Amino acid sequence: MVVLGIESTAHTASVGIVDDEARVLGLASDFYQPPSGGIHPREAANHHVEVLPTLVGKALEAAHTSPKEVEAVAFAQGPGLGPCLRAGATVARMLSLAWQRPLVPVNHCVAHVEIARVLSGLDDPLLLYASGGNTQVIAYARRRYRVLGETLDVGVGNFLDKLWIGLGGRFPGGPAIEEEARRGQELLALPYSVHGMDVAFSGMLTASLALHAKGANRPDLAYSVEVTAYSMLTEITERALAHRGRNAVVLGGGVACNGRLREMVRAMTESRGGTMFGPPKSLCVDNGAMIAWTGQLAFRAGVTTPVERSAVQPRQRTDLVPTPWRPD
Ligand code: AMP
Ligand code: MG
Repeated sequence: MVVLGIESTAHTASVGIVDDEARVLGLASDFYQPPSGGIHPREAANHHVEVLPTLVGKALEAAHTSPKEVEAVAFAQGPGLGPCLRAGATVARMLSLAWQRPLVPVNHCVAHVEIARVLSGLDDPLLLYASGGNTQVIAYARRRYRVLGETLDVGVGNFLDKLWIGLGGRFPGGPAIEEEARRGQELLALPYSVHGMDVAFSGMLTASLALHAKGANRPDLAYSVEVTAYSMLTEITERALAHRGRNAVVLGGGVACNGRLREMVRAMTESRGGTMFGPPKSLCVDNGAMIAWTGQLAFRAGVTTPVERSAVQPRQRTDLVPTPWRPD
């Protein structure tokens, strides 16, 4: 039997179908691309409403399965943008009622951990979750996934996107900055903002734009921003590993597609005798398969919600979500 999962926390509308051995049988995604500037929650939600029904059909088709085989319908309950979450939740409720299948709420951040955990085969890794809206170091301890460190202002991806738009580019900034950074030659001094296991990016954004106004070229800026921001993330990941006495790291989030970040975290982890695993990009970015897989785990552990109590939770905290599928 399979679980169908719906992801719609931010830009991405996605439907995944996953079996009880974490095989991704079907995955269909569609990304909202703002015409200019950053994401507008209502516009993104309208996009999701439009594409989700088609994505459900495509995912079922790719999985060569039918609604009869779907055991439960999982959806990302939070955290995320309210209108976007509601679009996905509404489709999930509708399918749950129409197919008479239980509805399973899933925390988006926990889903990033669980898909990376099962793909890596690592039992108890720490997750560096680096995406547009979220930047967190997460580890399991005493019945919950705990946020050990996080951004104190914007997510690292959000920072990269804002910077790139400020430099005259278009969303998404992360991949464009990665490309531009290959031509960078000089490492410019930028604010390096690590506070214990937390990080902050707004100082680097202001400083980078100020350097650009004074004539710094884009390749040097891109290179310097990558080296500085990813060093910060590598440092807090290492500190979390040291404090938790762990030696395995998995990656998640759109920014975790970045080659330099992967290499830096890999080098750090291996220098400690540990292991780093980055999922394939399609499962690193927001996707319905991670919601479906976490839905499998949750459903088998007895987690379901009645439709009338399935409200989305835009600010749902990772460490408030019970994880009864994990032995204590
Ligand atoms: P997510 O929020 O997980 O959907 O990821 C979207 C974010 O990932 C955006 O902020 C992108 O700029 C960023 N991103 C995607 N690919 C890369 C990359 N190769 N390097 C850095 N950032 C990236
Ligand atoms: Mg995400």
